[in-house]
Amino acid sequence: MSRQQVYNFSAGPSVMPESALESARRDLLDYRGGGISVMEMSHRSPAFQEIFDSTKAKLKAALQVPDSHEILFLQGGATLQFAAIPMNLMEGGTADYAVTGHFSNRAAGEAEKYGTVHIAASSAGTGYDRIPAQEELSLTEGAKYFYYCANNTIYGTEWQYVPETAAPLVCDMSSDILSRPVDVSRFGLIYAGAQKNMAPAGLTVLIVDRALAGRELPYTPQVMSYRTMIEADSMLNTPPCWCIYMLGLVLDWLETQGGVAGMEQLKRERARRVYEVLDNSRLYIPHAQPGSRSDMNVTFRTGDAELDAAFVKGAAARGLLNLKGHKVAGGMRASLYNAMPMEGVDALVEYMKEFEARHHV
Ligand SMILES: *Cc1c(COP(=O)(O)O)cnc(C)c1O
Repeated sequence: MSRQQVYNFSAGPSVMPESALESARRDLLDYRGGGISVMEMSHRSPAFQEIFDSTKAKLKAALQVPDSHEILFLQGGATLQFAAIPMNLMEGGTADYAVTGHFSNRAAGEAEKYGTVHIAASSAGTGYDRIPAQEELSLTEGAKYFYYCANNTIYGTEWQYVPETAAPLVCDMSSDILSRPVDVSRFGLIYAGAQKNMAPAGLTVLIVDRALAGRELPYTPQVMSYRTMIEADSMLNTPPCWCIYMLGLVLDWLETQGGVAGMEQLKRERARRVYEVLDNSRLYIPHAQPGSRSDMNVTFRTGDAELDAAFVKGAAARGLLNLKGHKVAGGMRASLYNAMPMEGVDALVEYMKEFEARHHV
């Protein structure tokens, strides 16, 4: 199958805007007449510094990052931050964690090595099918931070509000960053692995309130210290140069689509079309409770594992790729990230209806 014949619903790494890939192809061997590829450039060269600075500026503009906050381009994935966050911010004290899925659960587990984790809320008991309401959050007085995951990639739930807490907010936005406007000033720290909605795998974006830097435990590795990385402008060591370049191209595309406000409208519409099928179906069972549903990752099943497998196989034969749910959740998952064209959503919706007509008893 050619690229023109498929829609890629992968949860990550995931679909990229075609224009960004085209630009990368154009520049691949010879970046703007300099005779070398971005992959071959020194990260200390003026040409790369320009790419770095402009990508940072574009991200700052896209998310309206206030001057109080620093943007860092790091490595190690979101998973490294599960440890880096408590090492930098916990100071051996207590932090509140909302556990609404696989990744926040892992983050809480990692943080236990560095201090006291208080579970502020958990939806584990109902299979991570919901997001707690503000009133349900059990907050610790004097907590060093409140941690949550804005969009639960595996289970398909998404926070529809920003929690009110006295402690600084720390948020994993790996799978919904740049999909809606956020008031960055309300957060102590936002971070995201790039491979869901921003760039190729290998880059982690951090947006951190500078006032929170400098609290790291003494044995924190340099590359994990926010203070050190802020001082070095992310270039203590070689940054993920190619990914930073690609992020710049994705941000150029994002701007042509109306920025994060444009993305929010599109994401609501994509998700609406798929949930409409689920809500009118006698075959599909949506996983997430209404009110907690993710616009980015739509999870559902038929209740019959063999039928689920047939759905995924039949979809792939039509070029609708990577609809199998994560192994810990089972069923199906359609990831509808920023770069998913509406035509892809419509092709999925059509297939879902046809499959139901063939298999509904
Ligand atoms: C994918 C994902 C992670 C893990 O990211 P890595 O970069 O593989 O470490 C963490 N949190 C969320 C919300 C994710 O979607």
